[in-house]
Amino acid sequence: MKRRDLLIGTAGLAATSQIKAANKEVYKWKMVTTWPPNFPGLGTGAMGMAKNIEKASGGRIKIKVFAGGELVPAFESFDFVSSGGAEMGHGAAYYWRGKSEATQVFTTLPFGLNAMELNGWLYYGGGMELYRELYEPFNLRPYPAGNSGCQMGGWFKKPINSIEDLQGLKMRIPGFGGEVLRRNGGTPVAMPGSEIFTALQTGTIDAAEWIGPYNDLTFGFHKVAKHYYYPGWHEGGPALECIVNKEAYEELPEDLQTIIDIAASATNDTMLAEFVARNAFSLKQIEMMEDIKIAPFPKDVMDAFKQKAEEIIAEIITKDPVFAKIYKSFSEYKNTVEKWTKISEYALLQNRYE
Ligand code: CA
Repeated sequence: MKRRDLLIGTAGLAATSQIKAANKEVYKWKMVTTWPPNFPGLGTGAMGMAKNIEKASGGRIKIKVFAGGELVPAFESFDFVSSGGAEMGHGAAYYWRGKSEATQVFTTLPFGLNAMELNGWLYYGGGMELYRELYEPFNLRPYPAGNSGCQMGGWFKKPINSIEDLQGLKMRIPGFGGEVLRRNGGTPVAMPGSEIFTALQTGTIDAAEWIGPYNDLTFGFHKVAKHYYYPGWHEGGPALECIVNKEAYEELPEDLQTIIDIAASATNDTMLAEFVARNAFSLKQIEMMEDIKIAPFPKDVMDAFKQKAEEIIAEIITKDPVFAKIYKSFSEYKNTVEKWTKISEYALLQNRYE
């Protein structure tokens, strides 16, 4: 009996010291991002997340954050984290549409969900399960980790009064939104944010969308284009993304895994709050500029955009079963949540403005 107690006791002690040893281990991680160095909101949000993880773990996880291009080019960060070159990444899921069209559903779709609704789908409507399943073959664990909120429609050199004004219009607008513009007679141009100002100034492009007042004002687009249209129909509440290499995640003790999980959802929250407040502060500044006209897109333009967006989605569904499966969950949720939004947020806001 005594011998048995002693054995159990020894085993218990061994287990305890093992846990202690594990707790002392310091994990040195790298986070590669798609953002320019210290990029306000998106880049600084990712840096804040890394800092929170280090603090909450008492320094047991140290994360060195890299801007796009510092360690690998921005759009190679997905493959880099997937192969374990870095343990972590921060960007946006729709940048990976070359891997799967379905990635776009986890960022935003034209005339899709707003930030609150999207979070509802991800956390409570089945979205996260589909998100993880989609990234599993890439050896990645994805998280929503930030949101810019509703974006702006973009800066235009000439006013847009009808669909006629879109004919031949060269606009910096990437991805899905760009395809919608093309089908309405325009020419979408893809370029990183840092090149937009010069392209507008030299007339290489006639218009550009970027994010919203906060980031747009920093880039100075108001100096070279005077018509600022809303809303950002193509990005009504795009989620940013954190990806973690699965093996690196599974190596961590459970408490550190939980710290990463919580840090991602905290960033998801605080980044949206930052964008709401700072967009409002910057809009106030833009509104004071007498030469800037802030206007909604005409109804016929919005209707045309919406029609082409639906057409494109229908086409992808017939070609891509993975997109079709994820979109089914998304659109069923959208049909359900928009009835609630209509009698809650929408009704409340209507009363505020009318
Ligand atoms: Ca944008």
